Amino acid sequence: MKTAIITGITGQDGSYLAEFLLSKNYKVYGFVRRESFENASESFKNIEKVLDKIELLPVSITDPLHIYKEISKIMPDEFYHLAAQSFVSYHMSDEINIMNINFNSTLYIANTLKELAPQCRIFFAGSSEMFGSPEESPQNETSKFNPKSIYGIAKVSSYYLLKNYRDKDNIYVSTGIMYNHESSRRGNQFVTKKIISTAVKIKYGKASKLELGNLEALRDWGYAPDYVYAMWLILQQDKADDYILATGKLHSVKDFVRTVFEYLELDYKKHVEINPNFYRASEKIPLSGNYKKLESIGWKHTKTFDEVIKEMIDIEIKNRN
Ligand code: GDP
Repeated sequence: MKTAIITGITGQDGSYLAEFLLSKNYKVYGFVRRESFENASESFKNIEKVLDKIELLPVSITDPLHIYKEISKIMPDEFYHLAAQSFVSYHMSDEINIMNINFNSTLYIANTLKELAPQCRIFFAGSSEMFGSPEESPQNETSKFNPKSIYGIAKVSSYYLLKNYRDKDNIYVSTGIMYNHESSRRGNQFVTKKIISTAVKIKYGKASKLELGNLEALRDWGYAPDYVYAMWLILQQDKADDYILATGKLHSVKDFVRTVFEYLELDYKKHVEINPNFYRASEKIPLSGNYKKLESIGWKHTKTFDEVIKEMIDIEIKNRN
């Protein structure tokens, strides 16, 4: 039986990954913030179904000694580092805190694994924000990084740190450069979930308007469980390497809104209002990924853009209270 540790296990990706690894007969551990245990019913919602099959440990990923102690006990075969402060701001704010959570955590984890469990395979969740304002579209694994947020800077820094561990210390570590990926477990602050939960409220008379920012913004939206499968697949390759996880297809926020409202048989024009507070300028060159390298190791999408939206709406309707 293989043993895996996941950081960020309570989030969208971590929870799908825990389920997937359990289905592959892994022993699954999650490093979780201590505060999450105090607010368990809310914090552990995504992993509710598997709580009795996994082991959650209160470990702060910004505490190197604590990480060291737990890793020395578990001695994992695979480590999936997904946790991050994931709010992306394009202003220089909260830099120290974000670098501490998003970069230092990577350093502490990888450094500990190098010392204690050098055979452990590491997956790191990178992001399209590493390309920030890209010079070409679609981007591939050799495109130039140009991060425009502290979040992106922390991801690029982690990427280079890990690449050096791979090249110089022979550590098996791979970064997945992940574009947006959605599901019913997406956090409410993301535009897809916000559109769907508000549209469903409108459908059932619980809301009348949906306030959004830039409707012309383009995103490369994939299906979260597919990306989680890719994480595992990437770690099963003979050689560690970095991969783009994307669909290569761009849709606007307006396309997304239209698809959602059509499915619910509503007219979006009657409900959508632009609120400048949510407005962000669109990228000059959009973030869209070329996933040919991932495809070459046997990965493919299981759902189209429309199918992802339909699944999210159906679950939102089922779960409404
Ligand atoms: P991310 O910015 O790619 O991490 O993901 P989001 O889901 O937060 O945003 C996706 C895109 O939707 C961005 O380009 C936003 O400018 C655009 N957008 C338009 N209206 C909204 C809104 O009301 N909330 C959010 N979060 N994004 C919006």
